[in-house]
Amino acid sequence: MSSHIKYLILGAGPTGLGAAYRLKELGQNDFLIIEQQAYAGGLANTFTDEKGFLWDIGGHVQFSHYAYFDQLMIKALGTEGWLFHQRESWVWLLNRFVPYPFQNNLRYLPKPQQLACLQGLITLLQNPSHKKAQNFAEWASQSFGEGLCDIFMRPYNFKVWAFPLEEMAYNWIGERVATVDVNRLLKNIYLEQDDLSWGPNNTFQFPKNGGTGAIWNAVADMIGRQHIQLNSKVVRISAAQKTVELANGDVLTYEHLLSTLPLDIFTQILSDCDENIRQTAQNLKHSSTNIVGIGLKGKPKPDLASKCWLYFPESDCPFYRTTVFSNYSPNNVPDINRYWSLMTETSESPHKPVDTQDIVENTIQGLLNTQLITDRNDIVSTWSFRAEYGYPTPSVERDTILQKVIPYLQSKDIYSRGRFGGWKYEVSNQDHSLMQGVEWANKLVLQIPETTYFFPNTANANWGK
Ligand SMILES: Cc1cc2nc3c(=O)[nH]c(=O)nc-3n(C[C@H](O)[C@H](O)[C@H](O)COP(=O)(O)OP(=O)(O)OC[C@H]3O[C@@H](n4cnc5c(N)ncnc54)[C@H](O)[C@@H]3O)c2cc1C
Repeated sequence: MSSHIKYLILGAGPTGLGAAYRLKELGQNDFLIIEQQAYAGGLANTFTDEKGFLWDIGGHVQFSHYAYFDQLMIKALGTEGWLFHQRESWVWLLNRFVPYPFQNNLRYLPKPQQLACLQGLITLLQNPSHKKAQNFAEWASQSFGEGLCDIFMRPYNFKVWAFPLEEMAYNWIGERVATVDVNRLLKNIYLEQDDLSWGPNNTFQFPKNGGTGAIWNAVADMIGRQHIQLNSKVVRISAAQKTVELANGDVLTYEHLLSTLPLDIFTQILSDCDENIRQTAQNLKHSSTNIVGIGLKGKPKPDLASKCWLYFPESDCPFYRTTVFSNYSPNNVPDINRYWSLMTETSESPHKPVDTQDIVENTIQGLLNTQLITDRNDIVSTWSFRAEYGYPTPSVERDTILQKVIPYLQSKDIYSRGRFGGWKYEVSNQDHSLMQGVEWANKLVLQIPETTYFFPNTANANWGK
């Protein structure tokens, strides 16, 4: 089968759906999304397990940098469709909870560790570095001091990113990592006060029903399902002929192409891609994410009753983060009076292999070790999911690669955007991704230049507007 589409979009995640939604808003009708999975939503999908527990692909929360995104969320689920939460995130280490941001709440640490963190900061103040940091490891040492790096920054960030910090850049940090304010830190220790409200997601919203996936299913419905072709894997693209071939042999021709496929894979299946560009794109780094959901009977213990998510820098559990998913919505479990749920994330890369066969058992043992659960007999359901492409690593060489590959594709009328299409972690949340799609449509139809992908700091400056 062969057909011609004016605006062809590859991938039905938030980026592709944003593009399609905006095209429709702009009065365009000749567009189609091609998606390999049986569902829309991409990484922002939600699954229901056999026992009726809901699971996102990792803890997804809604906080946005864009009025357009906020309005779309209301259109998708209605004003009544949301629950609003105050973020309560904590770090679990040395057998205790410390509120996040960790460095602002050092008073929770035992005295020797408090002292080590403060000594590291004093050493920094006495000997400020005049050398520009070359990578994330150097940036962390120069910004936090050795005490904080030893106890939290290094072990935690390796657990999240699954790459040595020396291989990572730090220009993505912006609003995402709380830096050290020594005065604030000392005040909090000596006045014994908590400091909890830092950051862009200090309040967030979550769908009342259906998990994160409910949002994107609603957006897909608003677009019109006839514009979304599921179960269709793209296997070959020709830039010269403007064709996209699907696994079933169908060939589509297009005028404009938006790809949200991982950029390294896209260049592999772009049949007429310059070999040098293709090889360059293969040097992009990513980590995989293993999600394990644990459905439990009873109620969470009192100190988990209002917590949202927890960070784990230590090696007694495989996961770096656990979300108390039943606290996001009571409808994430079959009956909130009888059940609750925890959802864990474990990163994986060639530097940090994961035993995927035993991931569920190792996760349960980790939950026991970290005292989140006390009795494995409380477990009534387990669920696991592995996303090969979980996090687009902001590696030291990333920007040099993107500066070659993205303009090359654009010179062939191909726009590659979104979490792995654009490979910029700093603009790869749902709001950024949706807006990259919207801005693509705006550019093609209204000739308005894109901003999010090319000016991440400007995009991220808008939080808390
Ligand atoms: C663990 C984790 C936690 C997260 N937490 C948050 C959060 O708290 N808040 C937030 O806003 N965001 C969060 N995100 C990010 C969020 O998931 C992304 O912003 C969003 O999904 C990116 O959308 P996308 O469309 O760019 O990419 P994707 O969602 O990856 O969509 C790409 C689509 O392309 C399809 N595709 C790939 N190859 C092919 C092919 N060959 N043929 C056809 N289709 C193909 C895929 O199946 C997929 O549906 C999190 C992500 C992860 C992994």
